[in-house]
Amino acid sequence: MSLLKAEDIAVHFGGVKAVDGVSFEVEAGEVFAIIGPNGAGKSTIFNLISRIYPLTKGRIWFDGQEITGLRAHQIAPLGIARTFQNIELFDHSTVLQNLLMGRHTHRRTNFLQDILFLPKVRREEHLHRHRVEEVIEFLELEAYRNKMIAGLPYGVRKVVEIGRALALGPKLILLDEPASGLSVEESQEVAFWIEDMRREMGLTVLMVEHDMGLVTAVADRVLAVANGRPLAQGTPAEVQADPEVQAAYLGT
Ligand code: ADP
Ligand code: MG
Repeated sequence: MSLLKAEDIAVHFGGVKAVDGVSFEVEAGEVFAIIGPNGAGKSTIFNLISRIYPLTKGRIWFDGQEITGLRAHQIAPLGIARTFQNIELFDHSTVLQNLLMGRHTHRRTNFLQDILFLPKVRREEHLHRHRVEEVIEFLELEAYRNKMIAGLPYGVRKVVEIGRALALGPKLILLDEPASGLSVEESQEVAFWIEDMRREMGLTVLMVEHDMGLVTAVADRVLAVANGRPLAQGTPAEVQADPEVQAAYLGT
């Protein structure tokens, strides 16, 4: 069984069919990309999986469990982490603090235990630190650890945004345009990290991306959407060769 399955999902906002009848399955260990022009419904698909938006129709399963009826706060603890197209970090906190906040949903202790600082709390604190240190090492963020987000270059903030999601220790990571606004070199670095997330962390990756070069380099399979509707699905080469995709996405 696939790790993530979306069946005929849709959300309509008034008259706008932002997503309309989209189905796909992401296998464990795979890098799956969703492509499409601006306004195609890609980020909205992420918001449906994250259960931030209500489903007008359709069903979603993750890791053998139906998540259609779950609330947004119940999604991360299952092992689904995401980044946002517009970076959502705390600007006036450090890189380390932002990554530790990324661990938040994993807290199992309560307020009273916190103030008493019981062994259980210390143990959890240690686990959080350990995971966050792994992420800092993995994304080569050592030099920025104690730097305030607000003062960092855009490219570094993009990486910290990925780190915040990785800190959760997810099974599935949703990356919303991880290379947007990055230089060619920075995009290549992102491609390497996506490869390493799969190989070293055993992660499954679902990404939305505009940069076809990045998609071709890292994705096993691609779903193309336009106007909320699915256009084609297959390997990057198959999808790129699809006439409907070329017309809608490549503008030819
Ligand atoms: P993409 O990520 O592919 O660029 P989006 O998923 O952000 O596109 O948006 C798809 C369409 O859905 C757009 O027309 C957008 O205006 C609309 N949309 C997304 N979210 C909302 C919302 N909360 N309310 C109304 N319309 C929305
Ligand atoms: Mg988007």
